[in-house]
Amino acid sequence: MATTSCDVAIVGAGLGGCFLALLLGRRGRHVVVIEQGPSVPSAGADFLKPPGLRVLARHGLADLVGRHGLWRDTVRYYHDGDPIQECRFPDGGFLIRPYRELVELIYTSCAMESVEFWFDAAIDDITMGDGQVEELTLADGRRLRAGVVIGADGTKSAIRRALGIEQRTTPYERLQMRVATVPLSASVAQLNRLYFSSEGWFAYLYPLDRDQARVFVGLPPEDDKEIFQDGIPALLDELKKFVTDSSDAFNSLQAAAWQPIKVSSLRVEAYHRGNAALLGSAAFACHPMTGMGMSYTLRDAEILADVICAAAGDPELLDRLLQARYEPRGHAHRQLIDYGDSLVATFRDPRAYLAAFRSDLHVYGDADLTKPAPPELQLT
Ligand SMILES: Cc1cc2nc3c(=O)[nH]c(=O)nc-3n(C[C@H](O)[C@H](O)[C@H](O)COP(=O)(O)OP(=O)(O)OC[C@H]3O[C@@H](n4cnc5c(N)ncnc54)[C@H](O)[C@@H]3O)c2cc1C
Repeated sequence: MATTSCDVAIVGAGLGGCFLALLLGRRGRHVVVIEQGPSVPSAGADFLKPPGLRVLARHGLADLVGRHGLWRDTVRYYHDGDPIQECRFPDGGFLIRPYRELVELIYTSCAMESVEFWFDAAIDDITMGDGQVEELTLADGRRLRAGVVIGADGTKSAIRRALGIEQRTTPYERLQMRVATVPLSASVAQLNRLYFSSEGWFAYLYPLDRDQARVFVGLPPEDDKEIFQDGIPALLDELKKFVTDSSDAFNSLQAAAWQPIKVSSLRVEAYHRGNAALLGSAAFACHPMTGMGMSYTLRDAEILADVICAAAGDPELLDRLLQARYEPRGHAHRQLIDYGDSLVATFRDPRAYLAAFRSDLHVYGDADLTKPAPPELQLT
């Protein structure tokens, strides 16, 4: 079967892969995105925080993404039923938009550029030579050669494995999470409320659109086993102990389909080797209580696009630029992962939780995300 050549091969059509493809396509690079699924991923994050919105705004995507989403500016936190604090998001707040919709918008924008998407494309082999990725072979025999290869292929990244980059995955073993989509109730429409209990439970209720709400529940694994074997009424009994101002949602929780979610943090020893780099969940994963994974991923894609274009096909320059401009992102990722860990470790105890809570990181992200855009990217 024929071999295709391109400037950049991106493995994974999630938010990171699609956004990077768009940025590179707009700058005239021939990009091929390989996605193992039949379309862009269907499940993922719901909240896009101000730093991520600013990245999208720099590339003219803010209106497109914000138009049909839900805007919120406050999250109220409770402990054992009592309000303990509010986190406010200035300047328009943050956006709720289901992950699939968000990624699809960016994917659709790629249609105007020289970006090819290969869906249902499983990688069979990754040929390495001289510390570089030389060729990707797909299960159907197609072969792809690229000057740059990006592993945007999630936490179990095949590209990361092929590069021999060490990783540390740490499951949040003491906190099982479940999610359900339910009809919207008045209290959820009014405000995002996040409830914690000293028994190690949490419940987060927020609107998804004008009709539906999402409910995340976190609980000790032993309770999860008991509750979800014994049946939903036991779940409601537990929730009633610490969920106070959202009782109008209880009726719908009874009939909800509660999906388990496995959450782990992921740290890697390096972000690139030779002509290949990792992006998004292939490079780092933090606890979703930070609500920042997408914002950091968007910023990282922006840096990668700049580096790839500046290297202009010179492999040595690419390696040097990745080392100088992309590897330092590890500092911000580690800070975010540590922050997520500290929220998970303290939420049973309101004093410890409030001491750990960093509204700056929660609202604005790391210093690099807070800095003004480089002059060439600033909006007029
Ligand atoms: C429960 C949960 C809630 C979250 N909530 C938020 C939130 O509210 N706000 C926020 O900012 N962040 C949140 N995050 C983090 C956010 O989801 C990630 O930062 C973001 O999805 C990273 O995008 P990505 O493109 O790296 O990965 P993904 O969306 O995981 O995309 C990876 C893609 O690669 C494909 N793939 C994998 N292996 C291969 C292969 N071998 N070949 C081809 N394709 C492959 C997959 O099919 C997938 O389409 C949350 C995370 C979790 C787990």
